[in-house]
Amino acid sequence: MLFADIIVDISIKNLDKTFQYSVPSEMEKDIVIGSLVHIPFGNGNRTIKGYVVGLSDSPLLDISKIKSIVDIEKQVAVESHLLSLAGWIKENYGSTMNDAIKAVMPVRRGVKEKIVKTVFPLVDREEMEKFVLDFEKKHNTARARVLKYLLELDGILYNRGVDYSFIVKELKVSGMVLESLKQRGIIDIESLRQYRNPANKLLWEKESHILNSEQQYIKDCVLSDFNNGIRKTYLIHGITGSGKTEVYISIINYVVAQGKQVIVLIPEIALTLQTVNRFYSQFKERVSVIHSRLSAGEKYDQFTRAKEGSIDIMIGPRSALFTPFKNLGLIVIDEEHETSYQSESSPKYHAREVAIHRALMTGSSVILGSATPSLEAYYRAVSGEYKLFKLKKRAGGATIPDVYTIDLREEFEKKNYSIFSEKLKCLIEEKLLKHEQIILFINRRGYASFISCRKCGKAIGCPHCSVSLKPHMYKGVVSRMKCHFCGYEIPLPNTCPSCGSKYIDVFGIGTQQVEEAVKKHFLGARTLRMDADTTSGKDGHSKILARFKNGEADILIGTQMIVKGHDFPNVTLVGIIAADLSLNANDYRAAEHTYQLIAQAAGRAGRGKKKGEVVLQTYQPDHYSIVNAAKQDYESFYKQEIIVRQILQYPPVSNILGILVLSKNEESALKLATIISEDIAGQYPSVTVLGPTDANVAKVKDIYRKMVYGKCKDYSILCMVKDCIEAFKEQDTEYKDCSIDFEFNITK
Ligand code: ADP
Ligand code: ZN
Ligand code: ZN
Repeated sequence: MLFADIIVDISIKNLDKTFQYSVPSEMEKDIVIGSLVHIPFGNGNRTIKGYVVGLSDSPLLDISKIKSIVDIEKQVAVESHLLSLAGWIKENYGSTMNDAIKAVMPVRRGVKEKIVKTVFPLVDREEMEKFVLDFEKKHNTARARVLKYLLELDGILYNRGVDYSFIVKELKVSGMVLESLKQRGIIDIESLRQYRNPANKLLWEKESHILNSEQQYIKDCVLSDFNNGIRKTYLIHGITGSGKTEVYISIINYVVAQGKQVIVLIPEIALTLQTVNRFYSQFKERVSVIHSRLSAGEKYDQFTRAKEGSIDIMIGPRSALFTPFKNLGLIVIDEEHETSYQSESSPKYHAREVAIHRALMTGSSVILGSATPSLEAYYRAVSGEYKLFKLKKRAGGATIPDVYTIDLREEFEKKNYSIFSEKLKCLIEEKLLKHEQIILFINRRGYASFISCRKCGKAIGCPHCSVSLKPHMYKGVVSRMKCHFCGYEIPLPNTCPSCGSKYIDVFGIGTQQVEEAVKKHFLGARTLRMDADTTSGKDGHSKILARFKNGEADILIGTQMIVKGHDFPNVTLVGIIAADLSLNANDYRAAEHTYQLIAQAAGRAGRGKKKGEVVLQTYQPDHYSIVNAAKQDYESFYKQEIIVRQILQYPPVSNILGILVLSKNEESALKLATIISEDIAGQYPSVTVLGPTDANVAKVKDIYRKMVYGKCKDYSILCMVKDCIEAFKEQDTEYKDCSIDFEFNITK
């Protein structure tokens, strides 16, 4: 007999409150997770609707007390669809159904939200200046004051507007003054309930291009499939600036005209006004955006608008994938290789895989786009599972930059101990003279700076986590150290805690260090720095980018944040300080990530009319990821990297299931991990078992982490292994102090 767990109200708060009903045998073949069913409820057995969130063959109560489902609806509601997607996520990534449902459905708004009012200009700067003169002439000083303040804002802020209460308070003007400016159509006052749509308020220049032949070919193929009812996954491999976004927009245009809806995923970091505006100017108020700074209520509102059909296109990071569109037609994933598409908390799903599954369920297509595709996507494209398209030229006519690879070992032999090679120094000086801009990129992915003793060589570690403490700057000097896992923080000691020597040093190149070096070598150069420290505030990073674009600095210094999707026409030089730092990361994707970062960083140079140059400084000039990134030759890189993956049986050739055993008691974690690894090896001969070993970070907040890995070509066998371990854990009483977490093909 089959039993169904049913929720009667989908609000995340009530998730734990499920009721069990029996499934009549004639419904067994139709019922799935997500099914909308009619059930008798309460004492009066009133018939109400509910959703199935779980199925099992064991009753929780005496069978005679379990009521039976009355009816099952054939028509699939969008909630049903999302719930079954949650079921699929749970099955394929190993999480609880609750966590999976929380991921696919945003929290319903509980409290009444505060309304934030914003003032923003409705006219362009030129007109605004005329109004200022006019008001000054008429001695309307308060009005002139407001407009003059708005004029002082930089481009992005000018369009985004300013907080209403800030203006009233700081400029000492009354609400009446603002109201009168609004009446005259000079400004608008908007209550931020919905996400505002700044682009159509201002007459944003609508850029539209006639697609070039490479672009047109892609559009024709995709739309011809679409019209013939063929749905599949496409991968557009196009160098940066080759016009991918333009292709997405033209295809979306068509799909929307057919009455279908579209989800566009872009990495959070690229969710700048610059990108979003291109969609706004095309689709106006039919587009909505979600991003991490929206409150739960605001996000819920956007999802409601999608469900009600007030919008056709949703743009956002990973979680936008679950927009409850009723008639989805297309999902676009831009910068498909980005690691932010991998969820790091349970359920640890990958947006690409979930998108493809949602598309399959809804009869939609998927378009992936990247200049540096993930090995997964490219492997499947080469094998024919996805259809592969290429864009080889820069669409705007800009040319690919010249790349100079510099061997840092030779610089050292030439007694150049600075962080800039001779070549980079010369080029920086040259560009500064020409008033062109420069980006200095520090590739620190997976590489942390640390503090260690020069005498005994020991790094200073966190007592609660097995990681080294990271140096923290205060007023330009390293004075404290902090653990990035648990927050433990201490002042920098004067002597080594291990041997007592006085020779304690900070290792690792940071953005601050580079900035200091720039200031020393290039007197008068104006710098901007972009890293986790300078971008913490609201809009922090788009402000820095806007200032750089406006020419407020000559040199932008930053980590991977600066390499993503931004367009700076005046940048003609990109310096990559230590290209191979990320090659040393303890991760089978280190070479892939290194290739991607270098190729993307190099792609920042020469986006405008002027030719770009790139200086790539490295200790491993012969490594294939460096050699090929310098040539922007993805195919050659792919051919070498896929061989490595084949030899080692890593994804995408095979699949990996990571089983993480956690416990405060190290011995018991190790014992359980050992049992698991022996059991898998015994029961699943097609699975190669590795471990148990310490996890990459072996202890966090005093909890020990042991890892067992299973490798297998067949993903579904790994899912069976996961199910088996879950079932074992549920019944087990001996290892109550241990918990288990799963990671499939994790990309970090
Ligand atoms: P990608 O998304 O591949 O980085 P974009 O779509 O952003 O490329 O295009 C890069 C630049 O080229 C943009 O400034 C865009 O306006 C311009 N562009 C795109 N397609 C064309 C075209 N067919 N003709 C002229 N310019 C184009
Ligand atoms: Zn020491
Ligand atoms: Zn710690």
